[in-house]
Amino acid sequence: MELILDCGDYSLRNSFAPSFISSLYESLGPDVWVKVAGNLGGMLKLEQRGRRLIIISTARISKVELEHIAILETGLWHEEFERGISRLPKGFREAAEALAEAYPGVRIPIAPWDFEYILTAVLLSKRASYEIVRRWCRELWEIFQENLRMLASAKPAALRRITRSYQLLDAARSMRDLIRIIEEPGRIRKEIIERFGAPREPISSYILGMPPEIARLILLSAWGIGPKVADSTILSTFKAPHFIPCDVHLRKFIKRLRLVEGFRMPEKNICKKFLCGGEPALGLDPCPSQKCIRAILRPLGELGGWMQTLIYLHGKEYCKSTRPRCGECPLRSLCPGSEIQIRSQIRHHD
Ligand code: SF4
Ligand code: SF4
Repeated sequence: MELILDCGDYSLRNSFAPSFISSLYESLGPDVWVKVAGNLGGMLKLEQRGRRLIIISTARISKVELEHIAILETGLWHEEFERGISRLPKGFREAAEALAEAYPGVRIPIAPWDFEYILTAVLLSKRASYEIVRRWCRELWEIFQENLRMLASAKPAALRRITRSYQLLDAARSMRDLIRIIEEPGRIRKEIIERFGAPREPISSYILGMPPEIARLILLSAWGIGPKVADSTILSTFKAPHFIPCDVHLRKFIKRLRLVEGFRMPEKNICKKFLCGGEPALGLDPCPSQKCIRAILRPLGELGGWMQTLIYLHGKEYCKSTRPRCGECPLRSLCPGSEIQIRSQIRHHD
């Protein structure tokens, strides 16, 4: 079956490159992606030719269903984020304009049906480059395809055959703990069970049945799942574009452009006790932290996750931790940090 959608100024390559969804795909070129694992694994191909998105599937599903899946997994479910730039607070507006010009057509792909795959990929990405994560994922999906629960109970020796890096053993431990939290009565707050019912199989449908703010709390209760992992997983599986994974690229960018002074990064010990914003609910209070960057960035609203994605792309391309490429950076006219970085590079060369 083949569907062709007019995708306007959307960019499949810019949307997939930074997205954890791409861990489920093989790239046959920057604009051609074949799904290899998860829902429709081996049965879905996406290709962008100019303003046309070509969706090809061998699955026995209806056109409506295929279109629904493709629209979510490409990120086309949300209108262009660029349309909201004029509503952003001033400093962020200028940065967003420059980033959107440098990295056009980015949307937020989501795959709720692949929750456990995405969580695994995000867990593996702790202090590992995404290229390495994609390699590990390819091996994992081949071994554990259709039963990621096996990953949680896999013997360390089996995992070490994939990599000796600690990330994989840690990911399995986090998955085990999350399963335990969801399955053991009493581990989940009474108020949550009263509102959403008793935990049920599989873990993904239980978590996906909740509002993203509550799902965040459940994820954060598990060993090794911190705010960045929880937020990245939710950003890639829920319609929650206001979720902002606060990572090293975001912190560096905000500091270098001096967009916010004196902020703190989210802390798991605080995050797991409070709702991140909003009104009190389910016996939980909103977080009192005023200095936390995720609270400070709340006015970005629906553009929060998109802006973080652009900052991630920019961090990989120009604004690197060491030796940023300030001389060629498209944001240098906005950036007070550029002079400092360029001076330190000149000193380095001397
Ligand atoms: S505002 Fe509070 S709950 Fe939200 S990320 Fe920051 S520390 Fe965590
Ligand atoms: S000018 Fe340099 S420090 Fe500023 S955003 Fe660009 S790469 Fe980063």
